[in-house]
Amino acid sequence: MGRLNGCLIYDRREADDRAATDRARDWRDIHGSLTLDEQREQAARCMDCGVPFCHGGRALNGMASGCPLGNLIPEFNDLLYRRLDRAALGRLSLTNPLPEMTGRVCPAPCEAACLCGLNQESVTIRANERCLAEMGFGNGWLKRIENNGRRGNIAVVGSGPAGLACVIRLRQLGFSVTVFERDDRPGGLMMYGIPNMKLEKDVIERRTAWMEGSGVRFMLNTEVTDVDALSGEFGAVALCCGAREPRGLSVEGSGLDGVAFAVEYLKQATKAVISGVAPRLDASGKDVVILGGGDTGNDCAATAIRQGCRSVTQLEILKEPPRSREQSNPWPEWPRVLKVDYGHEEAIALQGCDPRVYEAATEAFIGDGGKVSAVRARVRGEAREFPAGLALLAMGFVGAERGLVRAMGLETDERGRLRTRGYESNLRNVFVAGDMRRGQSLVVWAIREGVEAAEAIGLSQP
Ligand SMILES: Cc1cc2nc3c(=O)[nH]c(=O)nc-3n(C[C@H](O)[C@H](O)[C@H](O)COP(=O)(O)OP(=O)(O)OC[C@H]3O[C@@H](n4cnc5c(N)ncnc54)[C@H](O)[C@@H]3O)c2cc1C
Ligand code: SF4
Ligand code: SF4
Repeated sequence: MGRLNGCLIYDRREADDRAATDRARDWRDIHGSLTLDEQREQAARCMDCGVPFCHGGRALNGMASGCPLGNLIPEFNDLLYRRLDRAALGRLSLTNPLPEMTGRVCPAPCEAACLCGLNQESVTIRANERCLAEMGFGNGWLKRIENNGRRGNIAVVGSGPAGLACVIRLRQLGFSVTVFERDDRPGGLMMYGIPNMKLEKDVIERRTAWMEGSGVRFMLNTEVTDVDALSGEFGAVALCCGAREPRGLSVEGSGLDGVAFAVEYLKQATKAVISGVAPRLDASGKDVVILGGGDTGNDCAATAIRQGCRSVTQLEILKEPPRSREQSNPWPEWPRVLKVDYGHEEAIALQGCDPRVYEAATEAFIGDGGKVSAVRARVRGEAREFPAGLALLAMGFVGAERGLVRAMGLETDERGRLRTRGYESNLRNVFVAGDMRRGQSLVVWAIREGVEAAEAIGLSQP
């Protein structure tokens, strides 16, 4: 275990985020990091529990509790504390092929389930993971995958976390892999969804460069419309295309200029940051209204603030969550409590109020000369109008893109997710992983699905 009584000696400590007013002026990572010695102290808090709730991902009351990847958390904490960093990274890499991503963006259901959290604060598992991943890249400990790929050729369609994890595992299993990606850069929603200040894009590029060095071929700007075309050249195909069909809102005015889907807005914003391409959807000088009070809405708020919006408002249809856990939501369930995320903090610091308005049902977009000028909503029964030069729909996704599914003859369930047996679809040798199979989810689940689909492919091939 870490240090005997470590959890009694040291308090939980995380690096401070950069100040809201300061970080909102640029697109750089908002998070700081502790020194290596400070991080070791945090690892020392781990009690090496006999039953480590942190380690086993399971669904409790519909939400994940514990690590969905089954990361060997007590082991890597202990090794980090004892300065056996390379061994710690090795232990982490056994189950997690992309720890630099989860170490930054995972909501850490492991920490919600950590036993320390029962009567004090949980261990900083995610920050420990990020620290190890960075040491791995910084010290050149991540060895390339060297094999000749003689087990056969596999095609992976889509390069989000599910696709990347699937590719890494397939290479480890001895396959030669080609990735088809319709965007101009790999990474899926990690590249063109999650904003740069939460996940800097050179972190993704560093990993994909390592993958190319490990013999992976990336075919970018290549949309796959028909799996039959691949079946001649590849023994199996893994579809990791995400759940990209956005939930729309058919109310008056939804076709107005300036009403747009959140992911399209975020994608253009990221392109502007990394390649200087001016975004068509730009919040600069505008009142921005975001429909949807979740994480995507928060990312839109933080992005609009950086673009120099005049104001930002986030409309949420549900009630405001409680400030502390209710009795019906005990540890180790995921805490369903009000969270003030980085975009909210920035809005509070810059515009003086929380951007979220709860129990708000949008009724119409009001236009002026074909452009949106306001959003009309009923808030707790009262009609209200919010000025809007840009209205963003951040209400989630309704499954895999219908066009692709129909064109390929794939079967889906009532929620638009692909039907599979294990990971194989209704088409032989066509496997599916990530949001496309699971529905809109998290990076950590996509990684798990990618790894497991690769293993299923491994078993299916001669
Ligand atoms: C704005 C936003 C913020 C988020 N923030 C977080 C977060 O902080 N933490 C977290 O854990 N999760 C977050 N998520 C969720 C997370 O990003 C997804 O669950 C995850 O990326 C799903 O991975 P995936 O590989 O299944 O699909 P995706 O990441 O969607 O990748 C699918 C890829 O397939 C490609 N593709 C699709 N069709 C084709 C085709 N026909 N041919 C070729 N390529 C194709 C797409 O271009 C894309 O690159 C966020 C989601 C959004 C929208
Ligand atoms: S992947 Fe997520 S849940 Fe698993 S150990 Fe890392 S932060 Fe925790
Ligand atoms: S539950 Fe917490 S204290 Fe126990 S092994 Fe896991 S990280 Fe360590």
